[in-house]
Amino acid sequence: MTTPDDTLAAIDDVITWHGDSDDAMVWTADRPKRPDLSGLAAIVDAARPSPEAARALTERLATQMQAFNEAVRPVAEQMVHTARAVSEALALIINSPEGRALIEAAERGEIEPDPPSCHCLCQASHKGQQGICEHDAIAEIVRVSPTVGRVEIPVCGPCRGAQMAVAR
Ligand SMILES: [Zn+2]
Ligand SMILES: [Zn+2]
Repeated sequence: MTTPDDTLAAIDDVITWHGDSDDAMVWTADRPKRPDLSGLAAIVDAARPSPEAARALTERLATQMQAFNEAVRPVAEQMVHTARAVSEALALIINSPEGRALIEAAERGEIEPDPPSCHCLCQASHKGQQGICEHDAIAEIVRVSPTVGRVEIPVCGPCRGAQMAVAR
């Protein structure tokens, strides 16, 4: 004789075995409608390139890649060259007596760090007054941005004045 538990177990088995098949859908109260994909299949089929088209595309890409490489190589070589020149210049400075003295003075704290530079976005902050920036920051303006929160922006005197005037 079949107990209700056996029936449930049988149903469970079907669901487990055919969980992803159409048959399993029968067990759900609301059988979802399957979208009609035949139209889409036709589009995908039409878009699928022929072997010739694929080969032509590959060849065109290869040609373009080669042209790109040839255009980029001198620039890349120049960059390596520049980087080497910069590091050689740095090495020269570091190894020169003047450079050593400078580094040692900095290590002893005898050299004041440069004042922070003005971070005012003049174009945006005071459109009406351009070319007033003195670059060395003397103050900080506090802004509250919705994305980053409270930020302190170092500003020079004229920029600070101009920003205050705009804010007023
Ligand atoms: Zn400014
Ligand atoms: Zn400024």
